[in-house]
Amino acid sequence: MASLQDSVAVLNGVGPKMLEDLASVGIETILDLLTYFPFRFDDIKEREITEIFDGEKVVLKGLVVSDAVVNYYGPKKSRLAFRLMQDGVVINVTFFNQPYLAQKIILGENLAVFGKWDAKKRALTGMKIFGQAVTADFQPVYHVVKSLSQARLIKIIHQAFADYSSYITETLPADLIKKYQLLDRATALYAMHFPKDATQGHESRRRVVFEEFFYFQLKMLSLKQKEQQKNVGSTLHFDNQKLKQFIETLPFELTTAQKKVTNEICRDLLQPIHMQRLLQGDVGSGKTIVALLAMYAAITAGAQTALMVPTEILAQQHFETFQKLLKETPIKVGLLTSSTKTAEKREILAQLANGEMNLVIGTHALIQETVQFKNLGFVVTDEQHRFGVNQRKTLREKGHFPEVLFMTATPIPRTLAITAFGEMDVSIIDELPKGRQKILTKWVRPPQFDQVMEFMAPKIKAGDQAYLVSPLIGESETLDLENAQALFVETQANFPDLKVGLLHGQMTSAEKNEIMGQFKENNIQILVTTTVVEVGVDVPNATFMIIMDADRFGLSQLHQLRGRVGRGSKASLCVLVADPKGENGKERMKIMTETTDGFVLAQKDLEMRGPGEFFGQKQSGLPQFQVGDLARDEDILQLAQQEAKQLLANERSAEILQRPPFKEALAQQVFSSYFD
Ligand code: ADP
Ligand code: MG
Repeated sequence: MASLQDSVAVLNGVGPKMLEDLASVGIETILDLLTYFPFRFDDIKEREITEIFDGEKVVLKGLVVSDAVVNYYGPKKSRLAFRLMQDGVVINVTFFNQPYLAQKIILGENLAVFGKWDAKKRALTGMKIFGQAVTADFQPVYHVVKSLSQARLIKIIHQAFADYSSYITETLPADLIKKYQLLDRATALYAMHFPKDATQGHESRRRVVFEEFFYFQLKMLSLKQKEQQKNVGSTLHFDNQKLKQFIETLPFELTTAQKKVTNEICRDLLQPIHMQRLLQGDVGSGKTIVALLAMYAAITAGAQTALMVPTEILAQQHFETFQKLLKETPIKVGLLTSSTKTAEKREILAQLANGEMNLVIGTHALIQETVQFKNLGFVVTDEQHRFGVNQRKTLREKGHFPEVLFMTATPIPRTLAITAFGEMDVSIIDELPKGRQKILTKWVRPPQFDQVMEFMAPKIKAGDQAYLVSPLIGESETLDLENAQALFVETQANFPDLKVGLLHGQMTSAEKNEIMGQFKENNIQILVTTTVVEVGVDVPNATFMIIMDADRFGLSQLHQLRGRVGRGSKASLCVLVADPKGENGKERMKIMTETTDGFVLAQKDLEMRGPGEFFGQKQSGLPQFQVGDLARDEDILQLAQQEAKQLLANERSAEILQRPPFKEALAQQVFSSYFD
């Protein structure tokens, strides 16, 4: 019996050579062929000369009023010319290197030609001949290999639809198709290639994207459900009284948003579920303290807790903050990084193993085999996307299904949060602590850099501090370092009476800590730095952030850098020094000067760079949808998620999950990369 899994070899005219060509673009079965969608469409509606612009690619139809003349002017080089008349207007049509078209051009007959219009010369440079008439509005254009022409591909796709249409069965539940007025599957697949008009093209895409997202979500959710049934998390009966008392001792009042998310997390602790929560909040919104409160609560329930961060500077900083805040409590805090001294490390490891140490902060050093906990019940990862999947997993497995809290450095757009983190619960801090002043952002060209420094110098003498971020080369750390060093030497020479420091990634941790310590105490007034300072660093007295060659950075990274200032009550200034050549670079600089809202910037960043680049490195865990686009299809994604959620609560879901979704492997792969 025929099926969509048949080899394309069954189609007429597909011989061994063509089979090979098709396989080279990934087409082996009929289904592969039917879902090998065009990457663009040419608009081939017949047009009138009077309504087209110079340079437009159009289809013109007219009467052939001359014979075709072919001239050869080199091996394989030829020029074919003839004249076409539309409404009494004669136009010259030229085709290059397609002499064989001459046989299709017959004096006195109608002809439709696709080509590029030159208004001045009233001439069309032809690209394709459609014969007597055009029957559709759009012509699909596919990615092909050289020996597989567009025309031959289109021909076999037509044939496949003719022979196999009746085997294309519906996959989506009928009530959803009705509710969202989706095209049925067979119609949608056909229209993905050969839409009748623009509306149908749009509708077919909407249907296919919905299907992709829906099955993806359904699969993710059902996997999560299974996971939850498998490992019932522990319940942490924390001491609310103690937690309240501890909050009283903080040097500031919590914001409403901080209280709200702390409650959300604490509620999870009391539930017998395995918490998987993502804490999102803009730069400077105070995520660290929320993490501490949650850890504090878990400790009052008898659990040990761990906070994993991506850099040593950050680990050190959190350690100092936590020690200060926990001074009056019996809680024992430790710091574990690769530069922890051997004797000290031995002591920490012993205390983690016997349960004496309640809270440990660390870098990757935390996931080494030698680290054993007595009762690890709560795990936090800060800047979670900096860690590989296995690293996060290794840490979790040091406890018995510990509660897990993830934190992100800058906001993540909704669509990415939904797909990359699946059904993880999300808590959002949507408010900055009181008394913060808006950070003013200016974009200047490199020649104005000296003026910026002149403006800043007296303010620094009066007690302010500045970060001066050196350009990112990216290709090599050595070059980044040379840049930073040169900028450091220059700044020192220009401002001999200011104290200038240098911070870069190739320093030892002891050196880095020394420099950061000095900067914190205002013994260093201008800190020249590479992007090692990017994440999390907190020095509230710093009010100037100057970023050299700012156009080399992505929006989220710039936002994260800018977030190093504006942390105290003084007004802050961020200056982007850049001379971007492309439009994209200029646009990014402009957006930075217009908004300080991290959620807005995250969405823009996604639109401008695409999902793959969003996290700054190719994320293996992010799914590659065939048609769905995480930057533009947010609406469909949300609906698909909502429907998948509802369906899963229903007994029909098992049966619907059995139907063949678009790309079955996708959800499995993404799910396991995040949750296994
Ligand atoms: P981020 O969310 O970027 O990690 P941090 O946790 O580093 O932000 O907090 C930024 C700064 O704001 C820190 O200096 C912190 O002590 C301070 N802070 C946090 N919460 C409050 C609050 N409710 N009121 C005043 N300052 C706060
Ligand atoms: Mg932080």
